[in-house]
Amino acid sequence: MNIDLTGRTAIVTGGARGIGRAITLGLAELGADIGVIARNEEAGHAVVDQVRALGRRAEFRRCDVADADEAKTAVDELRTALGGVSIVVNNAGITRDGLLLRMKDDDWTSVVDVNLRGAFNVTRAACKYIMKSQNGRIINITSVVGLIGNPGQANYAASKGGLVGFTKAVAKELAPRGVTVNAVAPGYIETDMTAAIDDKARENLTKAIPAGRYGQPEDVANAVAFLASDLASYITGHVLTVSGGMAM
Ligand code: NAP
Repeated sequence: MNIDLTGRTAIVTGGARGIGRAITLGLAELGADIGVIARNEEAGHAVVDQVRALGRRAEFRRCDVADADEAKTAVDELRTALGGVSIVVNNAGITRDGLLLRMKDDDWTSVVDVNLRGAFNVTRAACKYIMKSQNGRIINITSVVGLIGNPGQANYAASKGGLVGFTKAVAKELAPRGVTVNAVAPGYIETDMTAAIDDKARENLTKAIPAGRYGQPEDVANAVAFLASDLASYITGHVLTVSGGMAM
């Protein structure tokens, strides 16, 4: 059983750094052409160069996924440049942590706008292209925090929990069109997002992970590759945790 994504084209939001970068490179290694969406142009062009070095086609579009017009333009341009879209990975995400009593309106709005509205904007823009492909895939990167909650992350948990509901609703809508829609819920993964956690907090968090360690971006990318593949064609509306047993 090998995964072969030759001839498929994937758009990966936030595909230039961290988990998104691992997803970009993982899908490209399996044969897919990649459209990368992010805001940092230097990182975006760097990962595109890496994908091209693997012999795949790749394009970068600078875009804030929270902006519907920018998202539509980026998706349309990537589709034109790459000739189609059959896989979308909604990975772009941010945190603005703080306890509820002190949470500012902007902390709430910015997190929900990027993490949840961003996935809506990109998915809506890409939907008509995905439906034209034979084996469309939408994969949303949520979080175990959206399933089990976390103090100091009411905004993030709401955005990621919302993404689970979004995944299931769109899965039901698009199943008759042969498109699967799934979510991957990582636990703690080594990226810039978790680098700010201090050593003491990290030690305590690690104790809550049965596997006894943080995950790597490639652990998430492997789950995405499976869900993007033909091996997962009868799996839809599922939330796959990649958390070393932290959430089960
Ligand atoms: P990261 O290293 O901070 O990377 C986040 C990515 O999202 C970057 O590529 C960033 O690119 C992009 N991004 C952020 N805001 C954006 C916007 N408005 N428009 C377009 N792109 C945007 O984070 P990560 O750890 O890889 O996280 C990736 C995803 O996994 C996120 O959805 C996160 O919530 C989720 N997750 C992470 C963990 C973890 O432990 N790391 C756990 C569970 C879930 P630019 O800065 O260039 O825009």
